[in-house]
Amino acid sequence: MTQSELLSLVKKRNPNEPEFIQAVDEVLLSIMPVLERHAEFRDLKLIERMTEPERLISFRVTWLDDKGHVQINRGYRVQMNSAIGPYKGGLRFHPTVTASVLKFLAFEQVFKNALTGIPMGGGKGGSDFDPKGKSNNEVMKFCQAFMGELARHIDNRTDVPAGDIGVGGREIGYLFGAYKKIKNEFSGVLTGKGIGWGGSLIRTEATGYGLVYFAENMMQTKNDSLKGKTCLVSGSGNVAQYAIEKIIHLGGKVLTASDSSGFIYDKEGITLEKLAYLKDLKDNRRGRIKEYADQYKCQFTAVHADDAFNPLWSIPADCAFPCATQNEVNAKDAANLIKNKIKLLGEGANMPTSPDAINLLIDNGVMYSPGKASNAGGVATSGLEMTQNYMGQNWTREEVDAKLVEIMKNIHDTALAAAKEYGKPGNYMVGANIAGFLKVAKAMQAQGVI
Ligand code: NDP
Repeated sequence: MTQSELLSLVKKRNPNEPEFIQAVDEVLLSIMPVLERHAEFRDLKLIERMTEPERLISFRVTWLDDKGHVQINRGYRVQMNSAIGPYKGGLRFHPTVTASVLKFLAFEQVFKNALTGIPMGGGKGGSDFDPKGKSNNEVMKFCQAFMGELARHIDNRTDVPAGDIGVGGREIGYLFGAYKKIKNEFSGVLTGKGIGWGGSLIRTEATGYGLVYFAENMMQTKNDSLKGKTCLVSGSGNVAQYAIEKIIHLGGKVLTASDSSGFIYDKEGITLEKLAYLKDLKDNRRGRIKEYADQYKCQFTAVHADDAFNPLWSIPADCAFPCATQNEVNAKDAANLIKNKIKLLGEGANMPTSPDAINLLIDNGVMYSPGKASNAGGVATSGLEMTQNYMGQNWTREEVDAKLVEIMKNIHDTALAAAKEYGKPGNYMVGANIAGFLKVAKAMQAQGVI
């Protein structure tokens, strides 16, 4: 089948699932040269199989709010592909969660996990539950009800969920407590756990740190570095916070941060002290980012999801790191970045850049890294947490950080090498898709038609 025939098939089988189709389309575009070289992959219908979740569980989550009212949400777990290891991927709690969003995330996760070099399959899950505005008690009640069903489908050798948007340390704690009570076992069934009850040092920091390590590797291919570079970061959650921290460590200057209400533009640069304020604001007080602008007397700009472009990406800078959510950089944003001579765009979020924006960036010589490569440090460190849990060990901060640095370098070099081998030197998107696909495809081929 040709690329367009394969895509038509996926569209037909998954109507009304635009995010999933977008993710499949991007991978298909990259891997067609591999399918041309490997007729056996086509005969085995590997693409048709990879685009069909091994299992998709959808369930009702019923819980009582603080007023004693019955609340109903929808929960999911997409177990996408277990060819190279147990299903692994985060849980997202956000009102925009649908089967399409989770299928796109699970599909991406399969290739990302393959790139880490750690034996992990791909999955993703979550709920349309919105933790915003809920009391701690309500979040706990919801997590307990959610795990009441999910516990039947996961364990530490089958499927190991982690956090994602709306699921941080607090939620992982409540989910883990509920699982332990239901199963009467203490195991590494979730990653992102707290230090002292199975968590790994550096897991919290890993996605943001890994993103910046990856970007530093990209800069080094041009004999350059992040030192002294001005950077735009979107988001103010887990990934954004630790991307900002590591950019500061490496001598870069971060001008922006955002949340779903808008962004701050701090011309003086976010310092470690200001970052501590931002972490407290978002993680403990669960406030809005405008408070940062009020505190440090800088500019706040409101942004709405349906605006034609996001003025955050019009601010002149050397590097851009979208770390909030999918499709947050569109073609107009990319044109603005290019106009301001951006050197590099590193994805911290999953699929934050729309396909036409990616093409514009690459065609204009901007170094671009897809999230499945540059944000893989989070899941890689989750893999390290799983290993520590299996072994009953706790590694030091330095040990885990050193492994993270090495993993990000390997992912970078693997993606670059695959891109070169397939005639697209310097194209990290093509390289990451091909390298991830080949690893999973060979495992599926070896394991027969299942
Ligand atoms: P968090 O929930 O910690 O933070 C998300 C941030 O993005 C918040 O600032 C949030 O604003 C903002 N945001 C969320 N949805 C929207 C939206 N629709 N429009 C604008 N802003 C939005 O999530 P993470 O930092 O964990 O995740 C961010 C991205 O990184 C996601 O794409 C996730 O899939 C990806 N990722 C995360 C990993 C991890 O280890 N956590 C690993 C790999 C990828 P507000 O506070 O207003 O909600």
